[in-house]
Amino acid sequence: MNKGKLTLIVPCYNEEEALPIFYKETVKVLKTIDYSYELLFIDDGSKDQTLNILKDISDSDPDVTYLSFSRNFGKEAAMFAGFCNATGDYVAVMDADMQDPPSLLPQMLEILETGEYDSVATRRVSRDGEPPIRSFFARQFYKIINKISDADVVDGARDFRLMKKDMVDAIVAMNEYNRFSKGIFGWIGFKTYWLPFKNVERIAGETKWNFWKLFKYAIDGIINFSQAPLTIASWSGVLMTFISFAFLVFVFIRKLLFGDPVDGWASQVCIMLFIGGIQLFCLGIMGEYMAKTYMETKRRPHFIISESNKKDINKIK
Ligand code: UDP
Ligand code: MG
Repeated sequence: MNKGKLTLIVPCYNEEEALPIFYKETVKVLKTIDYSYELLFIDDGSKDQTLNILKDISDSDPDVTYLSFSRNFGKEAAMFAGFCNATGDYVAVMDADMQDPPSLLPQMLEILETGEYDSVATRRVSRDGEPPIRSFFARQFYKIINKISDADVVDGARDFRLMKKDMVDAIVAMNEYNRFSKGIFGWIGFKTYWLPFKNVERIAGETKWNFWKLFKYAIDGIINFSQAPLTIASWSGVLMTFISFAFLVFVFIRKLLFGDPVDGWASQVCIMLFIGGIQLFCLGIMGEYMAKTYMETKRRPHFIISESNKKDINKIK
C-alpha cells in the first residue's frame, strides 16, 4: 500500500567519499517503508567528483534527482532550493555524511501518521566527539537566542527533520535573503515532535565548519531573528548619559568645594577610551543590521541552478 510520496533533500558539498555510502544505506531504509520516494540531491557547487557521482546514481535509479548550483551558495541555499523543488507530500532534509541516521526515518514517518504532529525534528542529546569549547559556546548561543528572539530554537536541534507539505510551503514563503533555518523552523510554528538521538560522527570527508565560521553563524542567527542587540546599544547609550551626568555634577561640586581640579589625567584618558569603545561597539551593531538590510533590499536570488535531471524546476529563486 502506498501512503504517499516522500522527498528527501540532501545538500552535498564535496561529499564524494560519503555519498556512495549514504546512498546505499538510505535506499536500504527507503525500500522498507510504504511510501514512494524521491531522493533530491543538491550539489552545492562541489569542486570534487560529487556531481559526477550524482549523475551516475541518477542514471541507474529513476527515484534519484539532482540540482547542481552554478557555484557554492551554502547549505541554507541548498536546503531552500530543495524546499522550492520538492514534490512529495512529506519532505525531509538530511546531511550526506550519515550524521543524520536514515534508520530514524521509519519511526519519524510513524509519528507523523498519527496525525498529531506536522513535523518530526531531531535533536542530538550528546555532543560526543566535539571539542568541549565548541559545546560550551553552542550551549551559550542557544541560551541567548531563546531569551532574545521570538523564534524558539532548540538546543542540539539538527536540520534533519520530516515535514508535511504545508510546513514546507510556509518555509518557501519566508523569502528572506539572510536565511537562518533553525530560526525559520521555530518562527513558522506548527506542531513539532522532538526525537532525541545520540550524536554520530561524520562517516567520511571533513566538516565544512571551523570555530570562527560557527561563531559568525551564531552572530548571524541572532541578528536575523532578534532586535535585542540594537536595544542593548540604545540602553548602553542611555546608561552612559546618566553616568556622565552624575560625574559632571561630582566634578562641578568638587571644583566649588576644593578649588582647581587639574589632577586626574589618567582617569580622564580611561573614561575617554571607554566611552569611545562603547560608541564604536554600538555603531558596529547598527552596521551589522544595516548590512543585512542592504543585502535584503538587493533582492538577489538565493541560488542559481546550472544543471539538473529534474523537469519543471525553479532554476533561479
Ligand atoms: N553543505 C552544503 N554546502 C556547504 C556546506 C555544507 O551543502 O557550503 C552540506 C554538506 O555536504 C553536508 C551538510 O551540508 O551534507 C552538513 O555539512 P557538515 O557535515 O560539514 O556540517 P556539520 O555536520 O559538521 O554541522
Ligand atoms: Mg556533518
